[in-house]
Amino acid sequence: MPKELNFLSQLTGSFSQSAAGNPTVAMIEAAYRHHGLDWRYINCEVTPEKLGDAVRGARAMDWAGFNCSLPHKVTVIEHLDGLGESAAIMRAVNCAVRRGDRYIGENTDGKGFLLSLAGIVDPRGKRVVLFGAGGAARAIGVELALAGARAILVVNRTAERGMEIVRVINDNTPAKAELTTWQREYKVHPETDIVINATSIGLYPRVHDRLDLDIESLKPGMVVADVIPNPPRTHFVKDAEARGCTTVDGLGMLVNQGVIGIKYWTDVDVDPSAMRQKLEEIYREE
Ligand code: NDP
Repeated sequence: MPKELNFLSQLTGSFSQSAAGNPTVAMIEAAYRHHGLDWRYINCEVTPEKLGDAVRGARAMDWAGFNCSLPHKVTVIEHLDGLGESAAIMRAVNCAVRRGDRYIGENTDGKGFLLSLAGIVDPRGKRVVLFGAGGAARAIGVELALAGARAILVVNRTAERGMEIVRVINDNTPAKAELTTWQREYKVHPETDIVINATSIGLYPRVHDRLDLDIESLKPGMVVADVIPNPPRTHFVKDAEARGCTTVDGLGMLVNQGVIGIKYWTDVDVDPSAMRQKLEEIYREE
């Protein structure tokens, strides 16, 4: 009996500028293949002027959704039909999801980070030190606060940016956020449970840059996480390991963003290991 043929894959993708260095396509396609899903993920270079056309194109082609990265995380909102809870608080979207005939904006940055802590530490009632106040820090701070973290101390070089995150957390969640501007050789308070680098310090090619931190202030009971995916083993991660802390690298956040995005689009729970393996191949240190 001839079988019915179907050459029409489901489509997803990413809009950003510049797109060439973004490994998400390799990671997501690895998961689609691993699970035998007839889905595609297309990495697209999209300028700010063309973002509206790109979203209209996705609608016309009935994409199940798309990621958007820099510089579109805020401006994409005007092209969408609604926002999820944390995206509405952050006013930033990195994942659009087709629900019925609407595209809803979600933010998986912080959710991916949260999922990377699963089985390691539950943020409920915890005290957090968060280095940085950019988009990654904002997403992580909001999600930790929504997940029940008790206190979040934002440590940032520039006070103005730091205050913005503190305001967003205090106005929208039950957590208590405060700001400290970065002093030399910053000392982490011994009662801190979770310490996070959400700055860009240590990102390739400046892999030898270090946080201005008194490493001795990291204690063995602390969970120490870095958002830097490239290289995964930053000085911060290595120093924390040497101090006996439990560490979480930036690949965890990236992989779990993939897990969450794919769940939104396909409703399939994917195995993160195929994605992690693909990223490890990509980021393997020579
Ligand atoms: P932004 O440029 O918005 O923010 C950068 C932050 O780093 C700011 O708080 C900035 O401080 C701080 N910073 C940079 N250099 C220094 C320095 N020398 N000393 C002190 N502070 C410094 O970046 P994003 O928030 O978008 O991204 C931050 C990092 O997170 C990037 O490296 C990115 O690769 C990573 N990331 C990882 C993801 C993952 O899935 N693993 C997902 C998203 C991001 P100031 O405000 O004073 O300028």
